[in-house]
Amino acid sequence: MVEKFGKIALEEHFIPENFMDYWLPSVEGLPPAAIEYLRKSLFDMGDARIEKMDKNGVDIAVLSIAGPGAQCDKDSNVATRRARESNDFLVEKIARHPTRYRGFAHLGMQQPKEDAKELERCVKEFGFVGALINGQTNGRYLDEDFFAPLWEASQALKAPLYLHPGDPEQTYAALKGQLQLRRPAWEWTVETATHALRMVFNGTFERFPNARLILGHMGETIPYGLWRFDSRAKFNASPTKRTQPPSFYIKRNLAVTISGVNSIEPLQCALGALGTDKVMFAADYPFENMEDASDFIDTAGISDDVRKKVCSGNAAALLGIKI
Ligand code: MN
Repeated sequence: MVEKFGKIALEEHFIPENFMDYWLPSVEGLPPAAIEYLRKSLFDMGDARIEKMDKNGVDIAVLSIAGPGAQCDKDSNVATRRARESNDFLVEKIARHPTRYRGFAHLGMQQPKEDAKELERCVKEFGFVGALINGQTNGRYLDEDFFAPLWEASQALKAPLYLHPGDPEQTYAALKGQLQLRRPAWEWTVETATHALRMVFNGTFERFPNARLILGHMGETIPYGLWRFDSRAKFNASPTKRTQPPSFYIKRNLAVTISGVNSIEPLQCALGALGTDKVMFAADYPFENMEDASDFIDTAGISDDVRKKVCSGNAAALLGIKI
């Protein structure tokens, strides 16, 4: 009989009702009943969700908007304003269950100085633990100079950025017409891993050594590739000031959650590649079952010491959450 530990869940989604127009295209093609289930679950930030958390040993859920949110708004002023609205909405919901919920800030990602200010407001005034970014924004990626003000704030506030998947600006040629492989099935993995590797290879973490990036989905396959990244990097001189092999930054600056990947082999790979301090629990509710994630980690073939760290210890340390 393995011991069960209380959990901090890191990729748990909600949506304000007036943000539905941003979200609906991301579930295009799903059966209406599935969309209705997701809609209801995303709106519920009260008793039903807490009951589910209780059943699954989730002590604390860090809530984040279901993507892409205002990030995809074509008007940058509107994106900034509406992201603030979402954060105001979230902090009010958290206040009703302050011991059970924490928050990741939503940012418009089109006016980085404003985003930095908003991150600071959310961390200092609301007690949010970082920000969750839904992929690229109008073709811009987080390694670009454009986002330096946001990284400066993130580093200074010790508020990690969680890079959540989102659509590429245009889908890849090989994925055109391949509906089964679009979005979470595979497309988002390629896009999100590439986004994170741009930061690693282009020196974002050389410039911001204390910045922290969180990836979901067991690291979006990155833990599997460390040796190869280092091997190829030797032959391709970095155009930037990256002084270390890619794996150095991946091990130092990245942490991952298990969201939506409830199987032992990738868990062992992530723990082995990144270290036992860098893997954290997440269910990706309601897009995945909280029960599946919870049952998986409660019974996974790892030591109780490591399980406890994955369930809550690592998240508590990284996000400054007291348990
Ligand atoms: Mn998610």
